[in-house]
Amino acid sequence: MKKRYFLLLLISVFFLQSCQEKTAYRALIVTGQSNHNWQASAPILKTILDQTKLFTTDIAQTPKEKGDMSDFKPNFSKYTIVVMDYNGDSWPESTKTAFLEFVKNGGGVVIYHEADNSFADWKEYNEIIGLGGWNKRNEKDGPYVYYKKNQLVIDTVKGGAGSHGPQHEFIVRTRKADHPIMKGLPINWVHGKDELYSTLRGPAKNMEILATAFADTAKKGTGRDEPMLMTITYGKGRIFHTALGHVGKDATHPATECVGFIVTLQRGAEWAASGNVTQTIPIDFPNVGSVSSRPEYREGTIEEDFDKIAGYTIDKSTKNLTDLQARIRKVSADPAALLEIEKQMVDILKTKSATVDGKKLILRELAWMGSDFCVPTVQELLKEAELQEAAAFTLERMKGPRKI
Ligand code: ZN
Repeated sequence: MKKRYFLLLLISVFFLQSCQEKTAYRALIVTGQSNHNWQASAPILKTILDQTKLFTTDIAQTPKEKGDMSDFKPNFSKYTIVVMDYNGDSWPESTKTAFLEFVKNGGGVVIYHEADNSFADWKEYNEIIGLGGWNKRNEKDGPYVYYKKNQLVIDTVKGGAGSHGPQHEFIVRTRKADHPIMKGLPINWVHGKDELYSTLRGPAKNMEILATAFADTAKKGTGRDEPMLMTITYGKGRIFHTALGHVGKDATHPATECVGFIVTLQRGAEWAASGNVTQTIPIDFPNVGSVSSRPEYREGTIEEDFDKIAGYTIDKSTKNLTDLQARIRKVSADPAALLEIEKQMVDILKTKSATVDGKKLILRELAWMGSDFCVPTVQELLKEAELQEAAAFTLERMKGPRKI
């Protein structure tokens, strides 16, 4: 009997664990050859997708350049989406057919940055990516597509495809604000230092341009608004194409650390998988004023914000304060949630090891959002020489603080 109970327990633990680990979708990143640093980009893409907790992501690696490709036969049908981080040798015919069948039958695809350089001679792949560049693409592959003076232009003029000036930060502009991927994002936001892909051309069938970026001639650009984020449908399959996200040999990758890149990739992948986007817009999404980066590819927590603020000195970045302000704004209509944040702010004011500069930041915030909960603590600070002035300012601004 005892043995049977033990077995039952074991089965239920296993069942619980598998429930917890189960995600809605499976993603397969295809990589292994590229003119980019795929050894760095593939794990980055996996991290970004897995963080959504919607995806469990595998990586399929092709043989090296000019290697024997005959055994490269990933089982696409096991996956909800295939993420292309590949620019290299042709696949075996049976693999190409399996990929096309996967997409036609409703499989989702994410085309990432240099994957729109790949397979220039594969007609159906060009239909899947919508627009592509380099590898001898030209007018035979389809028109240039871009915006000029806010008008969509389909330009059939002769010429090569694919170009970019030196990497720089640039503004990404939403063109389809009501698309599920774009809904709720700012109309304009600054993207981290990246290549601004330009002069892409292709069949552009069943394609929508979700966002563009102005390729400034001062940065050796085309003077056009070039497509950055696109969706394409192919058979029953949905494709999200991001031209953003260059990863080269440098030690850091500002393009993929950009919160704008991360979030649009996560949303685009979910849309490719399901046709919907359930993810909320994170606190740290960039605006038109400045780049927002996640060096560790994940959104920070409020605990981390407080940790950094408690150790703040004026030579350091105020990013965590900006994040905290965004958190406060987000719950401004919810007194209970506001009070929870205020309690943590008061804790910092009481912490001996917290810096004077950090406490000053907190006092400045409390001046406009504090309730009478914080008053006794702020009054205590009037006794401390270095904080006296800041505490007096807060109490003055808080005259008749919000009752809790
Ligand atoms: Zn690149």
